[in-house]
Amino acid sequence: MRALHFDGTAVRFRTDLPTPAPAPGEALIRVRAAGICQTDLEIAKGYMGFTGILGHEFVGIVEKIAPASDAGVPTGASALNAARWLGKRVTGEINCVCGKCDLCARGLSSHCTARTVLGIQNRDGAFADCLCLPLRNLHEIPDHLSDDEAAFVEPLAAAFQILRQVPIEKRTRAVVLGDGRLGQLVAQVLATTGCALTLVGHHESKLALAEKLCAGATAARQTSAQFRAVFERDLRAARDHDVVVDCTGHAEGFLRALSLVRPRGTIVLKTTAAAAAPLNLAPVVIDEITIVGSRCGPFDQAIRALAAREVQVAPLISRSVPLAQSAPLFAPGAAPGALKILLRIQDRT
Ligand SMILES: [Zn+2]
Ligand SMILES: [Zn+2]
Repeated sequence: MRALHFDGTAVRFRTDLPTPAPAPGEALIRVRAAGICQTDLEIAKGYMGFTGILGHEFVGIVEKIAPASDAGVPTGASALNAARWLGKRVTGEINCVCGKCDLCARGLSSHCTARTVLGIQNRDGAFADCLCLPLRNLHEIPDHLSDDEAAFVEPLAAAFQILRQVPIEKRTRAVVLGDGRLGQLVAQVLATTGCALTLVGHHESKLALAEKLCAGATAARQTSAQFRAVFERDLRAARDHDVVVDCTGHAEGFLRALSLVRPRGTIVLKTTAAAAAPLNLAPVVIDEITIVGSRCGPFDQAIRALAAREVQVAPLISRSVPLAQSAPLFAPGAAPGALKILLRIQDRT
C-alpha cells in the first residue's frame, strides 16, 4: 500500500508497504482524508522517537474486521456487534489500550502504560491507504458531515477536553494564546460556553477568521457574544483572567500565560513546548496558580458539535494535498502560516 513513512531521518512517500492485518478485535480502515497536526511535524523532527507511518487525524471506511478472541476485547463486542461496523464511515480514538493494567482499571485508560498510539507510538498511522484500530476506538460519522469536517474530530475532541478539566461558564474570563489551528478550535469550543473570551495572536487574517467563527459558535448556542481577537502587541498585560489556555506551541507561551492569569487562576497547556524551557515556578507558588496539562478528549462531544454546526472547521483548511505529493510538507518551514492541511488519501494523482 501507499503511505508516508518516517524512518527517523526523513518523511518519504512509499508504495511498497504491506497492507496491515487487523489484530483480533480490530478493524481495517481504508482512509479517505487525514489532517496534519503539529505533533506530526514534531515527530518528523525526531520528537517521541517514533518511526513508521505518521498521522492520527482521519476519516475512513471500515473494510474488514478481524474476529475477536477472548483476549483484550470488551464484553458485548459480539461478532454481530463487530459486523455492524463493516462499510461504516468512521474516525477513531488514537490511544489503543490494554484494558488490564492498573491505570486502565482505574478509568485512566488514555494513560494506559501499555498503550500504543496511532501514528505516534508503536502503531502505524493514518497517512496511508489503510490503518488498523480496535473496534472499541471507532466512532461513526453522521452522513451530513463531509470527510474534510470529519478529519477534525480528533483535534476538536482535544479542544473539548479543556471543558472537562476546567469549569468555564458565562462569567469566566478566558484567554486563548495562539491563533493557529489548535487555538482556533479551542477558541470556538470556549465560545460555546458564552464566557468572556479573548484570543491573542499575531496574524490579522487568522484573528479576523476567529472573530467570525466564534461569533457563529456563540450564536449556535444562543448565548451573547463576548469575544474579542487581539494582536499580541496590543494586549494589556493584566493579571485578571481566570483561565489562560496556551496553544502557542512555543515555550514563551507559558510565560505569557503567567503574565495574564489571576492569582488562584488556571493555566491550561495544550502543547508540550513549555517542557523544554527553563522555568521559574516561583510565581506559580506565590499566586497559587493551577497548571493543567491537557491532551486527548471526548470524540462524541466533538462529533455532536460538528453535527449541530456549533463549531466550523471547513474555513480552517488552508490546503488539501494528494498523499503522493505530501512528503515535502514535512520539511521544516515547508508551509509557513498554514492552518489545517488535509491529505486526500484516495486521490491517486
Ligand atoms: Zn494531533
Ligand atoms: Zn492499560
